[in-house]
Amino acid sequence: MTRLQVTIDHGAIARNVERLRAHAPTAAVMAVVKADAYGHGLVGAARAAREGGAAWLGVAQPDEALALRAGGDAGRILCWLYGPELPARALIRGGVDVSASSLEVLDTLVAAARMDGLRARVHLCIDTGLSREGVRPEGLPALLDAALAADDAVQVVGAWSHLAWADQPGHPTIDRQADVFREAVATIEGRGVALEVRHLANSAATLTRPDLHFDLVRPGIAVYGLPPVEDPAGEGFGLEPAMRVTASLALVKDVPAGEGVSYGHEYTTPRDTRLGLVTAGYSDGIFRSAGNGRGPVAIGGRRHVIAGRVCMDQVVLDLGPDATEHPGDEVVLIGADGPSAREWADAAGTIDYEIVCRFGGLKEKYPA
Ligand SMILES: *Cc1c(COP(=O)(O)O)cnc(C)c1O
Repeated sequence: MTRLQVTIDHGAIARNVERLRAHAPTAAVMAVVKADAYGHGLVGAARAAREGGAAWLGVAQPDEALALRAGGDAGRILCWLYGPELPARALIRGGVDVSASSLEVLDTLVAAARMDGLRARVHLCIDTGLSREGVRPEGLPALLDAALAADDAVQVVGAWSHLAWADQPGHPTIDRQADVFREAVATIEGRGVALEVRHLANSAATLTRPDLHFDLVRPGIAVYGLPPVEDPAGEGFGLEPAMRVTASLALVKDVPAGEGVSYGHEYTTPRDTRLGLVTAGYSDGIFRSAGNGRGPVAIGGRRHVIAGRVCMDQVVLDLGPDATEHPGDEVVLIGADGPSAREWADAAGTIDYEIVCRFGGLKEKYPA
């Protein structure tokens, strides 16, 4: 019995990458496919992104990069999140580009490359103000010295950083981070390094800051059709959501006015009405915080919200006295004919990134 179905439109992912390429015509596109492609399924999403013209794929974890290789991807891949215990030999042998944020990681990369007589392609990561990954600018010269001293084992091909406030266009930190980034690039190039790619822009900066595209843009959420900023033209930048999430209606029944619904009776039927039971709850990815009139669904194009608390594997809808819904009807949680991931995010007090990661994380359990 299928409780929740997550289906992915791979054509939408390919078309979104094509549109992002059109938004950044002077740069290459790295489709970010970390976290199982934001819940969309790593290998299938990556293949679709390549079809759309992604010259690069970006992942956080080494096992994601290796899974892409195992899945047959032979293109450029950058992997950026690990400590000095990273599986450096496997990555370098696999031809994966690697990021270095610290001397400790660089040492591991150098040692691993020498063991196999290979040369690692390294992207120096600069912390320009996010205070997350990356070497702080004052630490860059030492990291650069170490990389250049190990020229036999590492080739510095990239310099990159990540923005803190790109989804707030005009935020002053964006220009400040860009200035720090440009200075870092000048420091690296000043040492005679011919950088292949300089990259800073996530989805938001790809869509709103053409001056920050440099050689490569790294969109993630936009690849899946969810723009992180408003399109001034009101067209969602031409992106198409790729994830559809559905459940089914298990039961429909008439109840009188004044009945308490679900645990704690936080909802009481305001009139004689018809309740519908949906076979998905918080163990399926529905945020418990989206109960009590917040979480939206659509059945046959009619909108409803969750009545009362979200339970572990079910929720109740108040379909209204004139409801024509039937047991077995498809309940659309996310889809073109229903709510968006953004609406779920608003209902649950989070961002659409977390919504698709959460629903998508369950798709292996309940394959479509
Ligand atoms: C997640 C991530 C991205 C993509 O961010 P979006 O906001 O999804 O476009 C780009 N670069 C890095 C370093 C990231 O961690």
